[in-house]
Amino acid sequence: MDQEVLFHIRPLFADAFACKAGECRHSCCRGWEIDIDENTLSHYRQLSGAWRERMDAAICEDKYGAHFRLTSENACPFLRSDGLCDLILAFGEDALCDICALHPRFYELIGQFELSGLGLSCEAVCELLLSENGELLYFCEETEESFPIFALLSRLGFPAENHSLSFLPVEDPARMLARLEKTEPIDEAWPLELARIRRDWAEHPVPLPIGPRYDRIFSYLLFRVLEEVPLRGLDAVLSYVRDGVSFVALHDALYGEDAEAMRRWSEQIEYSTENIPYLLSCFEA
Ligand code: SF4
Repeated sequence: MDQEVLFHIRPLFADAFACKAGECRHSCCRGWEIDIDENTLSHYRQLSGAWRERMDAAICEDKYGAHFRLTSENACPFLRSDGLCDLILAFGEDALCDICALHPRFYELIGQFELSGLGLSCEAVCELLLSENGELLYFCEETEESFPIFALLSRLGFPAENHSLSFLPVEDPARMLARLEKTEPIDEAWPLELARIRRDWAEHPVPLPIGPRYDRIFSYLLFRVLEEVPLRGLDAVLSYVRDGVSFVALHDALYGEDAEAMRRWSEQIEYSTENIPYLLSCFEA
């Protein structure tokens, strides 16, 4: 039987989130298949006139359900050239299917706790996370307390007394890159990006940066994957997080792009049903 949710926890920075819409360079309306839930599909099917015709041409139904037929540029058919959404402009945000209304939010249940946050495949979230340097705090709606990741782990029953929750780079970035090279690539550009990083790192073996900015990323990558702790163990999960932050730090050291590196790592790893388990398995005893 499902446990009743007693505590809702979210990172405090998420409260300031705002979609960049037309200003977004990596719109989530491009590159992903967009499934349409049954309720929304039935609303779409009730449209009439030109909108009904447009909707019929935009929707594809197969044995997996309904989804939008992407354009030749791999974009949602309702994404306008100015980056805005035609559906929102015509009917308001209520017209969005569940997946579009939810993105980039995520929810995870761990016992009596519901953890909610914002996925790092969204550039606005990455920029927001790095817009401050202080310790990342999490907020519990019921108790109105804010606390760091260490206290959250303890509330969840994952005591971390013997673990460091500050970021320490991997000793050998080449081994971290080798693990990433074995993940399923999200697109053709990903293996080329890894090859470029490997080459540039070999030519300029700069030390990986550390500091509060990276502790913040460490905390949030850990928050995102906490539901894996009971299955994989805290040691494996922390090593996975350390690897991810090391990728961002290496990218930053070489090219000075930590927000973009984090976004790219997230879409390659956190949004893949294969790549998270693969990387975690690399660290299991
Ligand atoms: S990726 Fe983020 S900022 Fe960009 S369009 Fe999607 S929700 Fe908005």
